[in-house]
Formats: sequence, C-alpha cells, structure tokens
Amino acid sequence: MSADQKLYEGKAKILYSTDDPEVLLTRFKDDATAFNAQKRGSIRGKGEINCAISTHLFRLLEARGIQTHFIDRPAPTEMRVRAVKIVPLEVVVRNIAAGSLCHQTGLPLGMVLPKPLVEFYYKNDSLGDPLLTRDRLLLLELATPDQVDQLNAKALQINEILSDFFQQCGITLVDFKLEFGLDSAQTLLLADEISPDTCRLWDQSASDPRQRVLDKDRFRHDLGNVETAYQQVLERVLAQTVEV
Ligand code: UDP
Repeated sequence: MSADQKLYEGKAKILYSTDDPEVLLTRFKDDATAFNAQKRGSIRGKGEINCAISTHLFRLLEARGIQTHFIDRPAPTEMRVRAVKIVPLEVVVRNIAAGSLCHQTGLPLGMVLPKPLVEFYYKNDSLGDPLLTRDRLLLLELATPDQVDQLNAKALQINEILSDFFQQCGITLVDFKLEFGLDSAQTLLLADEISPDTCRLWDQSASDPRQRVLDKDRFRHDLGNVETAYQQVLERVLAQTVEV
C-alpha cells in the first residue's frame, strides 16, 4: 500500500489517498501551530510520537467498543484510516478548568469541574473556531439533533475510558478535543488524533504547575522541554498494555 495523491495538508498532518477509496493514509508532521496558526514552530520527533500515542489510544478505545477511523500504523509517522466525511465540529471535553474556559468564564485554572463539560466549537479557521450553542450548531446544519446527542454521549464515554487510562499512567486528563466523521453508512466514527497536541495532560508527580504540563501548552506558552514532555507521555502510555 503506497501513499498516492496528497488530498489535504493540515497544520499537523497530511492526508493521502490510497489505491482503496475507502482507505486514506495520514502522515503526522513535526510542525506545530498555536493560537489559530499565529504561532508556528516545530517539535522534533512529534510526528512519530503523536502517531504512536494516537495508535495506542485508538486501539484502547476500539477494545472498549468505540468505533474509530483507525486501521493500522504501517510506518512510524503513518496511520491508515477509514475515509470519512469530517463533521466540522471540535468536540471538547473538560474535567478541570484550563485554557479558554478560564479566559471566557473567570473560573480558576485547575478547578475540578463538578461533572465533565462537553462543548462544541465550529471548525472554521477564518472565524477563529468559535464556541457554538446547540441551537447555533443546528441552525448551521453542522449536525442533526440525533448526531449531536450521539456526539455528546460518545464524548463522555471516551472521556471515562481515557481518564481511567491516563490515571494509570500517573497523568491527569484535564481536557481534550475530538473530531468525528461519517463513513459511507453514515456511522459516526472517532477521527483525527488523540495526542499531547489535542489534550491537556498534567503529570501527577510534579508539584510545580509549570513542571506538570506534558502537552502542547509547553509550546503555546514557551515553557521549554516540549520534546521531553511528549516523549514522557509516549513512554507512560506504551507502558500500559491494551487488553483486547
Ligand atoms: N484543542 C485542540 N485544537 C484546537 C483547540 C483546542 O486540540 O483547535 C484542545 C486543546 O489542546 C485543549 C482543549 O482542546 O486540550 C481545550 O482547548 P481550549 O478551548 O481551552 O483552547 P485553548 O486554550 O487551547 O485556546
């Protein structure tokens, strides 16, 4: 199976067609962007690390009954995935207040939320990925009411599985972003990636708030040691076997 035509180049990944129209190939890049691509850089080894972490987490979720686009990982930075039509929503799940939730509501950084919060953002760079209400999302016909309910339920289920998993790694899953796609049978599959680029991950063994950050916030806020943090997540994730 060889990579064929480049279909799309995003900030962190390139998508290629393959000789099977139902299968695409994703190549993970070392490039990093933040703040709607206003900050750009590169994190050495990130493509391989994020591909490996995403692979492990997709396998874990599949083993727990969550349908994903993941097929296999034919090379260190490559993932074969099922072709889906991406729903233009970023589904964010939060367990602890951080990032835009703090900026927009005044909640203190690190506050444990009484229950997980699911939010929908419009995946639209020119509009700056705005936060949507359910009614706005339906108005824009980004998903059907039934799909919104399914996305909400799946996001919460994924949060339970991933929170438990990261807990075993000595890592707190603060928040994360998911993307979903529809396959040819109109089934919602978890798509994109799950990695330190898309999750906030705090090391439970670090007391200093700057030291505990093991995710893209190290790049966003110039905290240094970005590669080491990503590598640390990879090692801890791979140390936990996935029971199928
Ligand atoms: N996130 C992401 N891509 C985005 C926006 C957010 O992967 O385009 C992730 C981010 O890494 C964090 C979570 O979603 O784990 C919540 O992000 P938030 O809304 O707090 O935005 P930020 O502070 O990153 O601007």
